[in-house]
Amino acid sequence: MKFHVVGSGISGSAAARLLADAGHHVEIWETRSQTGGNCHDERINGVTVHRYGPHLFHTNDRAVWEFLSRFTAWTDYRHKVMADTALGRISIPYSKVTERQIGHALTDEEIRDLIFAEYSEKQWGVPWKELPAAITGRVPTRRDNDDDRYFTDEFQGQPACGYAAMFSNMLDGIPVRLGVNPDEWRRHRKPGDRVIYTGKIDDYFDCVHGPLPYRSLRFEHEWSPDRLPHPVINQCNRLPYTRIYDHAWFSGETPPHTLVTREYPLAHEAGNDPYYPVPFGDGMAIYQKYRALATAEMGTVFLGRLATYSYLDMWMAVAQAFSKLRPFLPMQQTTKNP
Ligand SMILES: Cc1cc2nc3c(=O)[nH]c(=O)nc-3n(C[C@H](O)[C@H](O)[C@H](O)COP(=O)(O)OP(=O)(O)OC[C@H]3O[C@@H](n4cnc5c(N)ncnc54)[C@H](O)[C@@H]3O)c2cc1C
Repeated sequence: MKFHVVGSGISGSAAARLLADAGHHVEIWETRSQTGGNCHDERINGVTVHRYGPHLFHTNDRAVWEFLSRFTAWTDYRHKVMADTALGRISIPYSKVTERQIGHALTDEEIRDLIFAEYSEKQWGVPWKELPAAITGRVPTRRDNDDDRYFTDEFQGQPACGYAAMFSNMLDGIPVRLGVNPDEWRRHRKPGDRVIYTGKIDDYFDCVHGPLPYRSLRFEHEWSPDRLPHPVINQCNRLPYTRIYDHAWFSGETPPHTLVTREYPLAHEAGNDPYYPVPFGDGMAIYQKYRALATAEMGTVFLGRLATYSYLDMWMAVAQAFSKLRPFLPMQQTTKNP
C-alpha cells in the first residue's frame, strides 16, 4: 500500500518510519526546506540553534523513548526555568525552592497572579478575566518537595547530536520531497493511495468553515558574549515578550558567543507560522466542524498538532502516531493514546 505523508515534523516522520518498517511504500511531502517541523535545529557559529523555539524532550512513555532512541543517543540535560516576577527572579513551577527564594509561602491565588496572569495575557492576547477556566484554573505546584526541574518525567534529555540528526536517521531510506507546494501531494495521489496528513486541518478542507485561529511567535535573536545565567527566563511582567533564552544551554555548548532569543507572541496570519491552537472561543467551535469532515474522510489519517488542532508535546505526537497507525502495522504498539 502506498502512503503519502504530508509534513515531516515529528508526527509525519514517526508515521513514515513506522509505515516503512512495516513494509509499506512511503513518500513524504514537506513545504519547508528541511525536515523536523518545529523541532528542527541547526548549528550556527558553534551553537545548536532551535529555529522554532526551544524543544526539550521528556516523556514517561517507555515505548516512545525506546522508539526515538533508535535514532539518537541522549544527553543528560535536565531543564530548569526561572521567572522574572514582581517578587524577583524565582524558580518555576512553584516548589519549596521557590518558597525559600521568596522567603514565605504563597497561596494558589497569589501564585496565579504572580506567575500566570500577565504571562498568559501576553501568550493568548486576551485579558486574564476572559481566558477560560481550563487555562486560568491550572496552578501546577510542588509545594511538598525541592524538585526544581521543569519536567519530572522518567525519561528526559536532548538528542546528543541535535534534532536534525535524529530526524535524518529516522527518515533514512524514505524519499522526502522538500520545498514543495502545499497541494503537491494531491497531484501525486493515485486511487487507493492513503494519506497521513499533518498540516493544518482547515487547509486540507480549503477553509470551507473559515480559517482556524492560532497564536504565532516572533523571535528576536541577538548574538552575545554574555551567557544568560539560566536556560530560559519567563517574563511574568509587562514586558512585551514572554520569555528569553540562551540556546547554548540546551546542548551544553560553550561557544565564545551565544544566541539569546526573545519570544513575542502574536496572532497567526498569512506570512507567519501557526504555533499554538487557540483552545477556546471560536477555535474549538470551528474545529468541531472540521473534525466532523475529517471523520467522514476516507483514506486519510489526520495526525499531529495542526491536523488535530491540539497542543501536543513531542512524545504525545509520537504516541498519537503509534495509536492512529495501529491498523496498518503488524505488531501492536503498547502506548497511551493522548
Ligand atoms: C515554541 C514551541 C516550543 C515547544 N517546546 C516543546 C518542548 O520543549 N517539548 C516538547 O515536547 N514539545 C514542545 N513543543 C511542541 C512540539 O513543537 C510539537 O510536539 C511538534 O512540533 C509536533 O509535531 P508535528 O509534526 O505535529 O507538527 P509540526 O512540527 O508543525 O510539523 C508539521 C510539518 O508539516 C509541514 N506541512 C504543513 N502543511 C503542509 C503541506 N500542505 N504540505 C507539506 N508539508 C506541510 C510543516 O512545514 C511542518 O514541517 C513546542 C512547540 C512550540 C510552538
